[in-house]
This record gives sequence, C-alpha cells and structure tokens, in this order.
Amino acid sequence: MSPSRAVAAGALVLLLLACGAEEPPPAAVDDASSGHVAPTEHTTRANAAVLSQLPFEDERDFADARRGFLAAREDPVIRDARGREVWNLDDFAFETGDAPPSVNPSLWRQAKLNAIHGLFEVGEGIYQVRGYDLANVTFVAGATGWIVIDPGTTVETGRAALELANQHLGARPVTGLVYTHSHIDHFGGARGVLPDPAGVPVLAPEGFLEEAVSENVLAGTAMARRASYMFGFLLHRGARGHVDAGLGKASTPGIFSLIPPSRIVDATPTEIIVDGVRLVFQNTPGAEAPAEMMIYLPERRALCGAENVSHVLHNLYTLRGAKVRDALRWAGYLQETLRLFGDAEILFASHHWPTWGNQRIVEHITKQRDVYKYLHDQTLRLANHGLTPLEIAERMELPPSLAGDFATRGYYGTVSHNAKAVYQHYFGWFDGNPTRLHALPPEEAGRRYVEFMGGADALLEKARTSYEAGDYRWVAMVVDHLVFAEPGNREARELLAAAYDQLGYQAESGPWRGFYLTGAKELRQGVDELPFETAGAAEIVEAMPTSLFFDALAVRLNGPKAAGEDVVLNFTFSDLGENHVVWLENAVLHHEQAPAREDADATLRLTREAWNRIVLKQATLPKELLSGAIDVDGSRLALLGFFALLDDFEPAFPIVTP
Ligand SMILES: [Zn+2]
Repeated sequence: MSPSRAVAAGALVLLLLACGAEEPPPAAVDDASSGHVAPTEHTTRANAAVLSQLPFEDERDFADARRGFLAAREDPVIRDARGREVWNLDDFAFETGDAPPSVNPSLWRQAKLNAIHGLFEVGEGIYQVRGYDLANVTFVAGATGWIVIDPGTTVETGRAALELANQHLGARPVTGLVYTHSHIDHFGGARGVLPDPAGVPVLAPEGFLEEAVSENVLAGTAMARRASYMFGFLLHRGARGHVDAGLGKASTPGIFSLIPPSRIVDATPTEIIVDGVRLVFQNTPGAEAPAEMMIYLPERRALCGAENVSHVLHNLYTLRGAKVRDALRWAGYLQETLRLFGDAEILFASHHWPTWGNQRIVEHITKQRDVYKYLHDQTLRLANHGLTPLEIAERMELPPSLAGDFATRGYYGTVSHNAKAVYQHYFGWFDGNPTRLHALPPEEAGRRYVEFMGGADALLEKARTSYEAGDYRWVAMVVDHLVFAEPGNREARELLAAAYDQLGYQAESGPWRGFYLTGAKELRQGVDELPFETAGAAEIVEAMPTSLFFDALAVRLNGPKAAGEDVVLNFTFSDLGENHVVWLENAVLHHEQAPAREDADATLRLTREAWNRIVLKQATLPKELLSGAIDVDGSRLALLGFFALLDDFEPAFPIVTP
C-alpha cells in the first residue's frame, strides 16, 4: 500500500477497533505477481483431504444465507465522499466453484457464504442487509419507522444499507437505534442511518460508551499493526491472497461515527418498547465484548444473538492482541439464553446468516455454548494434568458432535489458539518451565541456534529437505531463527515465506491465513508504510474521557529518558471547567483531575476542542500555540522539555524480521 492510499482510521482510533479498517491494496496485484508461491503437492493433498472430513453435502447454510432474498445493490461498489472504495464485492468475484488448491475448502465454503449479499426478509417485519460490510445491519419495522439493530462499521456502509431497505421496502424514518455491543463494526455506521438523532431512542448495553471509546486505545499502535495481519489488509484479493475474514468478507474503511446512547440496558431481562415493538434484552457483559447484549422480540419469537452466537468458533483470544475473553462466562450466558428465549423460531445475529425453526435454533445455541465450555473445561483438565499451552493446543480436539458442525469450525477463532487463551486466562504467559522464565530474545537465540546447527548453509539445506517433505511448521520454526540471526539472508527469507504461504493456504481460519500470508509478503517485500488518518473518527475522539488522553500520554513517556526529571503541568480546559494536573515522578507520568497547582512549571489553557484537533492530527501543538487556541503561562521551556520525553510510535514496525 502506498502512503497516498491513506487508511481511514486514526492512530488513536483504529485502535479502538474490533476490526481495523484500511483500504484494500491496489487491485493490480494478482496471484501471479503477488510473489506467493504455488501450493505444493502436500498442500494440495492436505486441502483435498478436508473435503472428506466435513459434511460438505449439507447445503442448509447456503439455503439459509439465501432465504428471503429481496434485492441486491445495483452497484457492487460503495464509495466515500471522496470517491474512494469502501466496499467492493467485485473483489471477491473469483470465489466461485470448487476451492482452488491454495485455499482450505472449509474456509472457501465460508468465504462463499459470506459473499452472499443483499437485502433479506428474515421474518415478519424483520430485514437484514448482509454482505456490504463486515457486519450485518438489521431493520425491524416499528409502528412508524425502522428500528435499526447495529448500523454497520461506517457511515458509508450504514447509509447504503438504509438506502437499500428504503428503496425496496418503502422509505421509513429511523425511529430507534440499538447497538448490540461496543465493537466499532456495530456502531460506527450510526450517522449513516441516523444523521439527526434528536428524539430517537438509542439503546446500548451497560458500559457501552466507555468501552466503545476506550477499548484498546493504550495499546493501539501495536494492535493496529497486528490487525493488518489478522484481517489481511495488506494482501491482494485472490486465491493466493485474502479470501475471507471468517466473520465476514473484510474490514470496512470509511468514516466512523458514534451517537451516544440515550438508554442503557443493565439488567436481564429488561423490556423496552421502541416504536411499538417489544424488545426484551439479555445483558451479557464480558462475553464476546466487554459491553454486549442479546435481544428478543417475543411477538415475533425472534432472537438477535448479537455476536455471542455466530457461524464460527469465535475468538477467546483475538490475534491482533486483546484481553482474553472468559469462556465460562460466555457459555453461561448462552445457557441463560436457552432458558429465557428457548422458544425462538427465528435467530439472527450481528454477523452471518439467520437460522430458522426452534429445534435448529436450540441445537445451534447449544453447540455454540458447548464449544466454549468444552474448550474451557478441557484446557483446565489438561493443565491440571500438568500440560502446558503448546501441548494442550496440540492435543485439544473437539468431540465429533461439535467438530462436524460448520458453525463451530475455526474460521475466526481456532481450537488451537482458543485453548491457549483459556490457559492464559488462568495462568498468564508463563508455563511454569524455568527455561521459559528467562529465555533469550529472538535475535540472540537465533544467532546461537544457527551456530549450533552448523551455520546458515547447513540449516538451510536441512530446512529445504523438510520443506520438500511438507513439514512447514518445522521449517518455519527453524528458519525463523536464521531470519532473526541474519535478516539480510534472502534465501532464508524466501524459504520462510514459502513455508508461510503453504501454512496460509492450508489454514481454515481467515485470521491464520492473514497472518501467514502477510508474514510471507513482508519477508519478500519488506514492510509497507502504514499511514494513519484520523479524520474519519472525530466523534469517537470527542466522546473519549479527558483522563484517557493522559493515560495514553503516559504510555508514550520514555521511562529511561524521564529518569530524574521533575515537571508539573496544569492543563486547564476552559470549556469543561476542569483542571488536570500532570506530573512526573520516578519516571512515571501521573495525572489527576484537581485544582491547578501553584508550583506548576507551566499552565496550559485550552479547550477540549483544541485538544481534539491535535489528537485528530488536524492541528499540531505549535500551531495551536501560535493561533492562541492554546495559551501557556509559565515556562515554555519546561513544556517543550516535557514533550521531548514522549515517544512517537512507528506503526509499520517489523514483525517477521528483527
Ligand atoms: Zn462484529
């Protein structure tokens, strides 16, 4: 991606994201010019074997994904105000017929299901727009207008969904908006469906706004970088590139909006009537998201499973990096769902296609419940036998009743990394083996391994033999040492990239494929610049609590540089009527909302608006000082000295090389 193809998400803000957002790479790259090698015989055979392991003859998901189809957009492309592509279904037009040998047939099946797009009737007065965003947009017909459940990721895709519904179902105003949870693919499109929210109820689960604006800000740069691997942002679309994210086709760039909720759901069950429609809520904090809820429409016996129920094994640990989720709690909520809403005849969710019929719905929720409970219980059983995460992940297999169900396959989460997540939840990073307590870091270990293995050439020769034998995981482990020892060794990089390609082609999980193929790409071509654009997230920045910015500033403080420094600053926000005292002590940046300190080195008088402009990179601190939007009393030198102690983060840091 060239720097000019700026991404649509902010350095601070992308970071809030459940699902990052960048533009797809230039379409000119195809399988042949991508550098990714052809699938080997081993990969071809491994992928062919999948066909006999799963019930591919069962086509019910395809029937469900097409059921109730009303219309598709005439234009497969959705553009932003500047004409840039936000969504392009033509990118995935290659996903027809049988799986090519470079794609796991199970992932290929999921990719084809996720490509089914349009406006669908789910039940009486319930419609969904699917396939024009990573997430679904659901429309419930109220007495006078639409109640929108989840408005999509961006203003552009949310608006497109509403237009499609209005065009084919008759134009109606939006009379209610419900956010199922705090991930951006379920609220970022709010202004697209509701440009003027005055008087319209906006419902969200307890903790929604705090989580929506703050989740992942502090770890944002690294998380965004890792998300670029997970969602395959940097890959071309094609049989040797990105085919699907598992949860949906791809992440969605564009403008992110946020309308704060006017009504909070904090108990189960909570009944609220919106535009004449009875909505019964189950509050499920800390399941798939920190703030999340499920919704039952008793009059239509229709259940919205939010993202707690989907057609994937979801993530207990998200590979972009995230706090691990609590499998036991998640499973417990789904048991509660069965008890509360077990008479549902329609089940729809924030991603994927609906399920109809009470028996199938109960079976589906039961299996979703049990896949998380099984992973939880069996990980701890094996841990209590003394096994460590790698051993547990290697041994863990779902029982046939779950493993044979497409809806619990690892298209997004995997059995392997979710088992490690359960271990991490209880034990943290340390497996108890003292070797791992104080292991050497990769470059140093790499140099010594290479030396012990007889040098680079000997290592490469053996690794090539392993590659020929199809032993790609081992090739990756060994050659990774050489790449970290000798990052300039082209042969090592190419062999490692080829092994990553094969592992990516064989992966059933969209994110695993994304990691392997992006790693391969960067070994061959180096790291592309990852430009950040903040303009698309103004409302999210505005909604952030001021204290969060100081927490984020503290993460930028260079500890070693700050040792022995002693600075006290007042930040006086005139529009908020707040003063925040910021000071350094023991190389730590502290902050406290408190009266201005008399002994401060400097006092900055500013507005939150001016501060937001700096965060959004619409202005710089010097510019705001010059314009008078920020006024300083006291020592400007102390102020400059303070800012000099802050690190800037380079988002395009290397991952597969030192
Ligand atoms: Zn989502």
